[in-house]
Amino acid sequence: MKKIIKNGTIATAADTYQADILIENEKIAMIGKDLPAEGAEIIDAKGAYIFPGGIDPHTHLDMPFGGTTTKDDYETGTIAAAYGGTTTIIDFCLTEKGVPLKKAIETWHEKANEKAAIDYGFHLMISEINDDVLAELPSIIDNEGISSFKVFMAYKNVFQADDATLYRTLLQAKELGALVMVHAENGDVIDYLTKQALAEGNTDPIYHALTRPPELEGEATGRAAKLTEMANGHLYVVHVTCEDAVEKITEARNKGVDIWGETCPQYLVLDQSYLEKPHFEGSKYVWSPPLRDKKNQEVLWNALKMGQLQTIGSDQCSFDFKGQKELGREDFTKIPNGGPTIEDRMSILFSEGVMKERITLNQFVDVTSTRAAKLFGLFPKKGTIAVGSDADIVIFDPKVERAISADTHHMAVDYNAFEGMEITGEPVSVLSRGQFVIKDKQFVGEAGKGQFLKRAKYNAALKPDTGKKLTV
Ligand SMILES: [Zn+2]
Repeated sequence: MKKIIKNGTIATAADTYQADILIENEKIAMIGKDLPAEGAEIIDAKGAYIFPGGIDPHTHLDMPFGGTTTKDDYETGTIAAAYGGTTTIIDFCLTEKGVPLKKAIETWHEKANEKAAIDYGFHLMISEINDDVLAELPSIIDNEGISSFKVFMAYKNVFQADDATLYRTLLQAKELGALVMVHAENGDVIDYLTKQALAEGNTDPIYHALTRPPELEGEATGRAAKLTEMANGHLYVVHVTCEDAVEKITEARNKGVDIWGETCPQYLVLDQSYLEKPHFEGSKYVWSPPLRDKKNQEVLWNALKMGQLQTIGSDQCSFDFKGQKELGREDFTKIPNGGPTIEDRMSILFSEGVMKERITLNQFVDVTSTRAAKLFGLFPKKGTIAVGSDADIVIFDPKVERAISADTHHMAVDYNAFEGMEITGEPVSVLSRGQFVIKDKQFVGEAGKGQFLKRAKYNAALKPDTGKKLTV
């Protein structure tokens, strides 16, 4: 099975150039001109960019939350991801205190098996550190292929771990070769502010944002960074939303602390005023951390440009407006947190980032694919266009203009958070390991074809460059 993609412009995290790509079976076999075409299917990519398939390092598919479950499962979620140019996701496997980690991982495999249309890996949530957990962790990395652990500093009495758990996870992960991921918000103070708001009768969606101010994200980010410095560990801060947090990450990186930051499309293009939409529509925009004051958007774009933040996760976590978000009509704390973002992640970054010259084309590839592959043990199998890499490829039309809408999206939810947004650029065809999953904007893949990715250990050589002191 040979394919040749001809006449396109290849863009990687490092280079932009004209060349053709020969795909044999699942891999990229050759890159160049006048490739041996005998027996090959020819794909004309004239006028298109050729990107490595996107890697979304932050998704929640088929995840229980607040008495309900995300609308998108592994089938609808990965098909929507493929439409958007993403060929790999890394999803969060939730754990419960007192339950073996292995059991939680089995549950997550059951969700994904026979449903995923693209390749996937798991991060593992750490809710407690005890002798049982410590004994299990080495096999999680070596046998299960899960080399990143997530700790929550927020969601008190649900997911939140204490500081000692975070610190011990950092120490243990460093020992074993894993990257620690953290949801950095001060859960204790949020809990207090939330109870106070409800006691005062403040139940509308906007109070979700007002009870989780940016200072509490900055404080928790700074605390996590300091604990990482003490542990000489490795930290990845998920969904960074604001200047307060970017400052703490920058300060730590300038000191040589091994800390990385992710942001999400919603924080780059939406703002806190969306939570004030009438008729409870504000609930569609309830994320944690919340959308921020608009001034933070340029801070985040600049941080991506300057390398203070390095990746874009979708934080896909979708709930219908009807029947799910509505659970919080009388009480904002009962609104399921999260939104549908897996499909539009790359297109928004291309349109708002590259087309508006906030980041370069090569930075776009880096933040939507290559850097995540490197940080999460998938490089160079995934995340680049190179001989020997998996033929995960996006053929992208950079000129088409369109509006994002729930009427045309492929996620299972009844609204789109970016409804009506005019953007430029769209994936035309997408290949996963040499096979079309999207061809001429139609899904031609198959649920269950996606493979679980056992990921390599964290590469500690990726440490930040302390020669480059930055300010926010
Ligand atoms: Zn998340």
